[in-house]
Amino acid sequence: MPSRYDILFQPIQIGPVTAPNRFYQVPHCNGFGWRMPKGMAAMRGMKAEGGWGVVCTEETEIHYTSDLSPFFEGRIWSDDDIPAWQVMTEAVHRSAHGALAGIELTYNSHDASNLYSRASAFGPRSMGITGGSGYEPGQTRAATKDDLKQVRKWHRNAAIRAKKAGFDIIYCYAAHNMTLAFHLLSKHNDRSDEYGGSLENRTRFFRELIEDTKEAVGDTCAVAVRFAVDELLGADGMQFDGEAHDIVAMLAELPDLWDVNVSSWKNDSTTSRFEKEGNQEKYISFVKKLTTKPVVGVGRYTSPDSMASAIERGIMDMIGAARPSIADPFLPNKIKEGRYEDIRECIGCNICVTGDTRFVPIRCTQNPTMGEEFRRGWHPEIIAPKKSDDEILIVGAGPAGLEAARALGQRGYHVILTDAKREAGGRVALESSLPNLSEWRRVMDWRLAQIQKIPNIYFYPSSPMTAKDILEAGAPHVILATGATWRRDGVGRYLSHPVKGNAKIFTPDDLMNANLPSGKVLIYDDDHYYMGGVLAELLAQNGCNVTLITPAPTISYWTQFTLEQDRILKRLHKLNVTLLENHFIASHTPTTATVTNVISSAESTLACDAIVMVTDRIPNDALYHELKPALADGQLKSLRIIGDAEAPNIIAQAIFSGHLAAREFDEVIDPDRTPFKVER
Ligand code: ADP
Ligand code: SF4
Repeated sequence: MPSRYDILFQPIQIGPVTAPNRFYQVPHCNGFGWRMPKGMAAMRGMKAEGGWGVVCTEETEIHYTSDLSPFFEGRIWSDDDIPAWQVMTEAVHRSAHGALAGIELTYNSHDASNLYSRASAFGPRSMGITGGSGYEPGQTRAATKDDLKQVRKWHRNAAIRAKKAGFDIIYCYAAHNMTLAFHLLSKHNDRSDEYGGSLENRTRFFRELIEDTKEAVGDTCAVAVRFAVDELLGADGMQFDGEAHDIVAMLAELPDLWDVNVSSWKNDSTTSRFEKEGNQEKYISFVKKLTTKPVVGVGRYTSPDSMASAIERGIMDMIGAARPSIADPFLPNKIKEGRYEDIRECIGCNICVTGDTRFVPIRCTQNPTMGEEFRRGWHPEIIAPKKSDDEILIVGAGPAGLEAARALGQRGYHVILTDAKREAGGRVALESSLPNLSEWRRVMDWRLAQIQKIPNIYFYPSSPMTAKDILEAGAPHVILATGATWRRDGVGRYLSHPVKGNAKIFTPDDLMNANLPSGKVLIYDDDHYYMGGVLAELLAQNGCNVTLITPAPTISYWTQFTLEQDRILKRLHKLNVTLLENHFIASHTPTTATVTNVISSAESTLACDAIVMVTDRIPNDALYHELKPALADGQLKSLRIIGDAEAPNIIAQAIFSGHLAAREFDEVIDPDRTPFKVER
């Protein structure tokens, strides 16, 4: 390791504890939460094993009146919750380098829906509940001074429980526009008692929480704060060069550590489509000038140079990371060992976030083992050695084929990987050339770099394979990863029959292969993730007059779960894209399309020169059906179809599918048994 990275491995004192290095996994949600503590603990433990110096929990409810259902976050409501947390702290403490475990205690305000507990949440004032769906019916009650005293007591008790559970760092949380502490600091506070009015008064509750926590557990535990220094709302919100500056100045030396970011979560976890590495530096850099305590910041740092530079330039003392630690739990160890090209860099897609927002265990596009540590026993760096000397032919080098080849190669198998195209990567090669998706290339670049290092994998590009070619190649095992093709006829989630008409029709495949329409273009999005919106961007940039139409109630519906929808809409508005929700295309002519409102059935006619259908995809599974007889007659020992060729889905699923095929190879899989442990 070059000495310029030494700084990343210097221990650092945080109050009464010492972090072994500067790699700090900041609190992040994961969809396991209190519901699946073993899954959560194994995931956290893996990061400690991979070298992270500090590993934190997600936001953790201190009391049932701050119940974050329907989301699954942490809970430390009573002593009964301690054993579950001990599983995590023990997993983190097992690391050889002395990783610390941190817990983010939270008392949420109107962000707690209390759908499960049916309690009234406390707010700075009686205000509409946003937690859960974002628009929950019901309001909080305005906390009285006695209520605030009660919350302080609950927080203190939770801190004592956290200490008992083995945590080294205990948070007071005022970030993400979510907690009572934050709302008392900010515009939502219109109180006339000593908790409202002047900044000093509005800071009182947060100060008390920090003081209480220090007094209760500060002898052996560090007390950290998480504070959002800007809400990106201009003068309507907290601003880093306004009140946030004054708050940090007032509390500067009180906590043992400052973990600072921007709010809300949508602004904190921006995707690579909208922000690049280190994007929060301009907001947080003032903090270190006001305190001598260690400062942690985030900004999706994956490059050791950027990390070392952020510390050297005095922006932060420790590199905070959620996503880079999800994409590569072994990032710190890889830097230490000088294995930079082995780092699986986060691509900034926020599929990990959808674990939380869709209430399922966390998934990651780059790291197929994320979330599978406990239930499938998967390790991101270790895989079982081969069980036979059989050769495997993989057709298709998209994400599924690349990952299957890489992981089977890692197991030691002799793998032949072919692709019809000159360039590997399949859909990733194509999609990463769309506007602002260039970081997605990391999915193929990392796999290709790994494949190059494994001598038993042979890659043949420019090699289209027929069923005959495949059988003549003589490999006893065939894995088909031949992808899928976008439909042209409009059939999708909404329409089950082709749209009638004779307009010029294009598909995403056409556009990605540089066959672009011009003039007035109507994009029909029945896919609902990024593709429709990204193509609208592409065409608008190319001078087309674009209308994006969807049968869904909102544009790019599913991107709300990756926290991108607002930014997508803002960008499309800026590009003058006309947006039309709740409509499907009923028919078309070379110059018009008739669209129907899905609710009222009202029809209207739009002028257009071309239509882009972003609907279902057709799996490229012809080879599979052609080869099946060869399996039946024993010419092939095994035949498997993976990725989009099996069932079109997101890139993360293609990677997972390829990885699963590699793990399951030479194993006997009983279809009648759940192939993973279920936490009950
Ligand atoms: P996935 O997402 O499942 O990995 P992709 O569509 O990204 O699927 O990748 C499929 C890859 O398979 C493409 O690169 C394509 O060129 C390749 N491919 C499809 N059919 C054949 C074939 N018959 N012979 C060789 N390569 C093929
Ligand atoms: Fe990064 Fe995407 Fe993985 Fe999240 S899912 S860690 S954003 S690569």
